[in-house]
Amino acid sequence: MNKFFVTTPIYYINDVPHIGHTCTTVAADIVARWHRSLGEEVFFLTGTDEHGQKVAEAAEKQGLDPKNYCDKIAPTFENAWRNLNISFDHFIRTTDPRHKEVVGRVLQKIYDNGDVYKSKYEGWYCLGCEKFLTESDMVNNKCPLHPAEKTVWKSEENWFFRLSKYVPKIIELVEDEQANYIFPEGKRSEILAKLKSGVKDVSISREQVKWGIPTPWDQSQTVYVWFDALLNYYSATQFLEGKSQFWPANLHLIGKEIIWFHTVIWQAMLLSARLELPKKVDVHSFYMIDGQKMSKSLGNVISPQQLVDLFGVDGSRYLIARSFPSENDSDVGVGRFSERYNADLANNLGNLVSRVAKLALGRKVEKKGVKGDREFGELVDQLKLDEAIGWVFGKYIDASNSRLNSVEPWKLETNDPKRVEVLDYCIDNLIKAAVDLAAVMPESAKIILDCFEGEVKALEKGLFARIK
Ligand SMILES: [Zn+2]
Repeated sequence: MNKFFVTTPIYYINDVPHIGHTCTTVAADIVARWHRSLGEEVFFLTGTDEHGQKVAEAAEKQGLDPKNYCDKIAPTFENAWRNLNISFDHFIRTTDPRHKEVVGRVLQKIYDNGDVYKSKYEGWYCLGCEKFLTESDMVNNKCPLHPAEKTVWKSEENWFFRLSKYVPKIIELVEDEQANYIFPEGKRSEILAKLKSGVKDVSISREQVKWGIPTPWDQSQTVYVWFDALLNYYSATQFLEGKSQFWPANLHLIGKEIIWFHTVIWQAMLLSARLELPKKVDVHSFYMIDGQKMSKSLGNVISPQQLVDLFGVDGSRYLIARSFPSENDSDVGVGRFSERYNADLANNLGNLVSRVAKLALGRKVEKKGVKGDREFGELVDQLKLDEAIGWVFGKYIDASNSRLNSVEPWKLETNDPKRVEVLDYCIDNLIKAAVDLAAVMPESAKIILDCFEGEVKALEKGLFARIK
């Protein structure tokens, strides 16, 4: 049986789940469900990143021990994903002792291979990103992603990883058409240019951060939170029973702000530890909220729960996927979501289902064992979720609605061949659409299939009622 391992980033626990996390997680779930529908054995991993200075500070502010703080926050992510019907197989937390053990083991291997040395590091550090910034990263002496955060000057003795040693190999991989692992193309060329402009070694440990995994060969330092976090993808396959064959991952899904870590540093770490490399890293852009960057200070942050309250589980999943920021930032907002929900789900799909169910009530339907469409699956695999859904709607839903409106079967006798023909056509289309859309809207797809497969039954209640 084919194996398929898909991951989301593990989300930094100092935040609360918002639409940005939601977008990556829903996309990964659609990919996971699609691959399961192909009969593959899927392992879908998500979780939380729980170490680092910022977590320790947040815990202190609440008067909590860092571990207690993490125990309090991690479930908010896990529950958010359960409420969105996310079918993850494991929720990893980097404070899990089993993860820590694997991190120690892999880092020791990197050390034993001669890829770690001690050196002094000085520079501007963004607490929000938990990373050193170069002058060119900064805007007005601040991190552009965290303008509200303090950027601090840090100077310390750290353990360094020989990243530069692996750059030629990584350039070769990025340029190799066969091995090429960075999607989309625009991101691949961006990384290639950065790799060719010169890469320095990176520090792998922290002297002053206590809340972390001790460096195996030097207990006075802790592992830099990013090295700890990246290793989650591998560690879960090692400490969970029966998962070791899932490494290397087939797909890491990430947002563009963490591309360097996932397409360069992660590869170098694995090369150094003599582990296999992930097959593909798909990089997506951000949501803009009504034309503006999402930010706490603007008060325009949308939470997954807010979406579920407004649009239901499947409605939220649909809207997220339909506006997925594949290559470019995607402008969304509650108003725009409501319009889209009413147009696509209430008026188009929902209305079609209830009209056809009513007109064809009691009809025997032969179709069984319909398989998903290859065209849809290919678009899903390229994370072109908007196009994938658009393809299904165009081919099956819009086509049915327009045939229905031109034939007007409600004006014809029950046995009129034209009426029979158009209803068969619509039922056939709805079944095919539901099979594809099951990855996006699992519950609604099931309702549609239950309604039309075997014998047409009445819908117990409307699908996607209009919202105001
Ligand atoms: Zn930052």
